[in-house]
Amino acid sequence: MEEAELVVLGAGPGGYAAAFLAADQGLEVTLVDQEPRLGGVCLLRGCIPSKALLYVARMMHEVENLRHWGVDFGQPKVDFAQLRAQKEKVIATLTGGLGQLAKKRNVRVIRARAEFADAKRLRLEPVDGQPPEVSELSFERLILACGSRAIRLSLFDGLGELVLSSREALDLPVIPETLLVVGGGYIGLELGMVYATLGSRVTVVEMTEGLLPGVDRDLVRPLEARLRKLFAGIYLETKVIGAERVGDAVKVFLDGKNGKDSAVFSRILVAVGRRPNGDQVGAERIGLRMTPQNFVVVDEFLQTSVPGIYAIGDVAGQPMLAHKATHQGKTAVENVLGERVSFQPRAIPAVVFTEPEIAWTGLTESAARAEGREFDTAVFPWGASGRAQATGATDGLTKWIIDRASGRVLGCGIVGMGAGDLIGEATLAIEMGAHIADVAGTIHPHPTLCETVGMAAEVYLGIATDIYRPRQAPAPKTGK
Ligand code: NAD
Repeated sequence: MEEAELVVLGAGPGGYAAAFLAADQGLEVTLVDQEPRLGGVCLLRGCIPSKALLYVARMMHEVENLRHWGVDFGQPKVDFAQLRAQKEKVIATLTGGLGQLAKKRNVRVIRARAEFADAKRLRLEPVDGQPPEVSELSFERLILACGSRAIRLSLFDGLGELVLSSREALDLPVIPETLLVVGGGYIGLELGMVYATLGSRVTVVEMTEGLLPGVDRDLVRPLEARLRKLFAGIYLETKVIGAERVGDAVKVFLDGKNGKDSAVFSRILVAVGRRPNGDQVGAERIGLRMTPQNFVVVDEFLQTSVPGIYAIGDVAGQPMLAHKATHQGKTAVENVLGERVSFQPRAIPAVVFTEPEIAWTGLTESAARAEGREFDTAVFPWGASGRAQATGATDGLTKWIIDRASGRVLGCGIVGMGAGDLIGEATLAIEMGAHIADVAGTIHPHPTLCETVGMAAEVYLGIATDIYRPRQAPAPKTGK
């Protein structure tokens, strides 16, 4: 058995960020992961490969749009082997970079499947028949960053290669003639869009009454309008109640608001959410307190119920987003180092990388209402933006949620081309406690889509140039 000062369990965006910062601060760090490469689900089979495929889908959509401008490139020919190879190259470059950074920082990386033996020891098991360099590791401190896994639906058990999770779908094993996507959330819509653009006839089945449940309907509407044209079908308030193999395809039985139905699909993609991995490492066995949803309970300092063990990222609660994990990783390290730093962001942005993109940050309108807050909203429709008109991106909108009493910005939502890149500014404004007049008074470059962030603030103040809206609030006295 060997001893480690700090073990980080899991090498995703939370784990490697924590390990690297801890090493930079002089700690002796051991990073354990079962994968042969660093980066976790995000880099190896999540955010990054999906964004590579979505980049291709977006470009194909934009090239198609050029027809309206009199430019016609003809029908696209897709070489899937080349597409897969290019995506793999992106992953290899990034994960290779992480490996080098770990070496430079003297982070010891051990490949193993780790489980808690007790509250101070990890048991390390072989992966793919390869025994790890040590079979037990004791630690002074541990940061648990073991992430989450896709939820499986037992009703598809036994259907083998006919059923894909996001992991398989990202490898583009085949471009099926018809694809049923079960779950109209982030993954279902992002990957559904990729497959539809590459030629599949895609049908989405969503259990709740709308796509992307929980997301502001004003933001979802323009996306849904586009998806209704792109997809063969969108079934809301519908569940899959049975499935059976018919040759190389699968017959699926649906039960929805319009009654029961059945249809045959070449493949099924299951994207019904993710489940935290605490149970995979024996978290409960060593007395870590868990929520009913199986998340490890942490306090504001990311400390678990067991002294010396911290938890970050997907395993430590919603939202299951890489950038939240990264920030928590850094906060956990500061606490390991003896600072008292709490993780209490005012805003955590979220992005759905469809076309158009949807992004939001801070408080949503429905959350503000649920909290009983006194608030106002202000919307700038992108049809009034010169840049959106000149780029064919007029289906977007930018929306602020503003605290009525103080005029401070509480939340922002954007749908439209590049919304994910535009939301950063709004997140900074919320974190800095900006007044809506600060946003309106910030000079945005013209002509850009980021102008819409300032223009939506001007709408609230009744001083927007490009659209007419009656004034909603007294003009600011303080200016900037
Ligand atoms: P999700 O929670 O976003 O969506 C799951 C959807 O499936 C929901 O709409 C839910 O109502 C529906 N559903 C659940 N059970 C169903 C059933 N039996 N039949 C039909 N519909 C059903 O989950 P996801 O899309 O699997 O993504 C998982 C997580 O990964 C997300 O929570 C997100 O945090 C993360 N993620 C983020 C991004 C991003 O940041 N762009 C992209 C992909 C995934």
